[in-house]
Amino acid sequence: MVDGLIATHSDDAQVVDGHGAVLLPGLIDAHVHVETVQQLQAYGRWGVTSVLDMGSPDWAAALRGRAGLADLRGAGAVACAPRGRAVSKMGYPSSSVVHGPSDARRFVADRIADGVDHIKIVLEERLPFKPKPLDEATVSAIVAEAHAVGVLVCVHATSTRSFQAAIRAGADVLTHTPLTAALDETDALVMKHEGLAVVPTLVMMKKLVERFPAPVKPKRIAYANSSDTVGVLRRAGVKILAGTDANSDPTAPNTIEHGAALHDELQLLVDAGLTPAEALTSATATTAEVFGLSDRGRIRQGYRADLLLVDGDPTVDIAATREIRGVWIGGQEVR
Ligand SMILES: [Zn+2]
Repeated sequence: MVDGLIATHSDDAQVVDGHGAVLLPGLIDAHVHVETVQQLQAYGRWGVTSVLDMGSPDWAAALRGRAGLADLRGAGAVACAPRGRAVSKMGYPSSSVVHGPSDARRFVADRIADGVDHIKIVLEERLPFKPKPLDEATVSAIVAEAHAVGVLVCVHATSTRSFQAAIRAGADVLTHTPLTAALDETDALVMKHEGLAVVPTLVMMKKLVERFPAPVKPKRIAYANSSDTVGVLRRAGVKILAGTDANSDPTAPNTIEHGAALHDELQLLVDAGLTPAEALTSATATTAEVFGLSDRGRIRQGYRADLLLVDGDPTVDIAATREIRGVWIGGQEVR
């Protein structure tokens, strides 16, 4: 709790009365799809001071590093299989398609040329009458090429089978959570051992289950599988990162509100078994550590002044993160 005033030691410092409030490091959303300045402004208003884009057909590299806006890092064009959803439905360029292991080097070189910060692979499910997803050898080859140039690899996975394939391929971050069965403890322990992190995107998984058209809804699909997976990961000590899959894409299965949704995600992480303090760490220090953002995620001298001042104590009641009194991005007041 802040007992008095917050000030830095310089003479022209802004003085803020923080009585009854708690000062947090600015929040980081580890799974977004961002295309506009307005979306980055929305993040700022909600205390989300950094966002990690997990794929955009038109990579908005020009939106990075703008004063007073949430700081953006991104994956650009995602890797997908021939005729995959990304290229057939979502408008990704043909360079998104990876035609087997021998094409992995070309894919990674294209992304590096685009100036991306990390690589994203979409590992779709093997379903009847659907195009074949990327095979494991291809995923492994993309991971190896990305690691060779020092870039982190995030993999979209929504089943225990695709989780296992991504783990074997050496991915760094898995995003989403299985919907038809919870991850088992053995897999979680392997992930802990390999140092993987997971961005469960519970907000998206919950909405997917609720909005699944009834006539085609597979019987075993249940949000409980996603939330139970979070419990399994937590008990195994796997790093959990808060991310929402926020997007404004009409071709996506569900749109998710930029900024506000991260507060919903924190609540769902607590409902799934994280303590409020663990949920806060999942949206700050742990994400900064996993993505090598060494100047943020904590309040510390020499770090970016990305700050969120809230009424109440979110380490007791996570809902307090919504009671926003002030937000600063890189020292600039944005709310
Ligand atoms: Zn996404």
